[in-house]
Amino acid sequence: MKKIAILCSGGDVSGMNAALKRFVEYAHYHELIPYFIQDGYEGLIDDSIIEAKYEDVAGIISQGGTIIGSSRSQRFKEKTFRKKAIANLDKKGIDGVVILGGDGSFKGMQKISSEAPHIRFSGIPATIDNDIAGTEYALGVDSALNMIKCAIDAIRDTASSFKRAFIIETMGRECGYLALVSALTSGAEMCIIPEKEYNIKTYEKRFKKEILEGRSYFIAILSEAVNKKEEIKNWFETTLGIEARISVLGHIQRGGNPTVHDRLMASHFVTYAINGLIEGIENRVVCYNNNGFGYKPIQEVAFQHAKIPKDLLDLMI
Ligand code: ADP
Repeated sequence: MKKIAILCSGGDVSGMNAALKRFVEYAHYHELIPYFIQDGYEGLIDDSIIEAKYEDVAGIISQGGTIIGSSRSQRFKEKTFRKKAIANLDKKGIDGVVILGGDGSFKGMQKISSEAPHIRFSGIPATIDNDIAGTEYALGVDSALNMIKCAIDAIRDTASSFKRAFIIETMGRECGYLALVSALTSGAEMCIIPEKEYNIKTYEKRFKKEILEGRSYFIAILSEAVNKKEEIKNWFETTLGIEARISVLGHIQRGGNPTVHDRLMASHFVTYAINGLIEGIENRVVCYNNNGFGYKPIQEVAFQHAKIPKDLLDLMI
């Protein structure tokens, strides 16, 4: 192996830039020439592939997002465009590619890897949703959780001043992980996620008692997957007689300064990805489980449903 490239695909996460910096530095350390593929699979099709220099990654470790861009590419789902992408890699003599993304991106990786067996591919889980099967952790999750924590802490200040209920919706696609961890770590009074049934009557009983004992505000964290924010807002107003407001956190959850944890995880993920490519552990995704890193076949990662660990779910009472 002489030349390796990296691309970011799907939703961006905070920590991708830290990964790019490590990629360039660690590639040079192994005397490999690093390349950036800009704008994900779109850039791969359009030959937006440039040699990466040290100066490109200077000072980027603290920035959210990704300096090389990301994309969702409909074209990449078609074989003719993937053929073009492979030809672009061949033209430059690139023999290894690292892909940061979620399960969709890994499905794309599986296709291109079977069509280009002479090129080695390695995947790094990167999504704030933490919804990738086969890995306990995906790059960007900690930074997103910390952004959510700051937002909830700020909302709690105003909720307590105005005696209101705040219904806060977090991202996570079909997965309630962000909502659950945020609710647990922000001391929310209510949490609704798809992975756990809830009984509104139990909440009613508990909250009415708490109101009698002096509670004046509530924080409810809802996963976007349950799509119940209006229903819960009305419930607070009609059943409990408490004025309620909805706050959809939206894209602030993706951005911001990457946490120490994500910077360090970025370094580990990239190191394992490049080591794997060098050693011929190809067409695998680097996964983090039980405090250690390993490699899993794409099939086990991109085509299964992720589950929230039971001990985490059990913390919700
Ligand atoms: P994520 O990687 O975060 O799950 P997406 O599901 O949007 O994000 O997938 C990112 C990109 O991966 C898609 O825009 C597409 O280019 C590519 N992709 C997804 N599924 C496939 C597939 N079945 N075949 C080829 N490419 C795919």
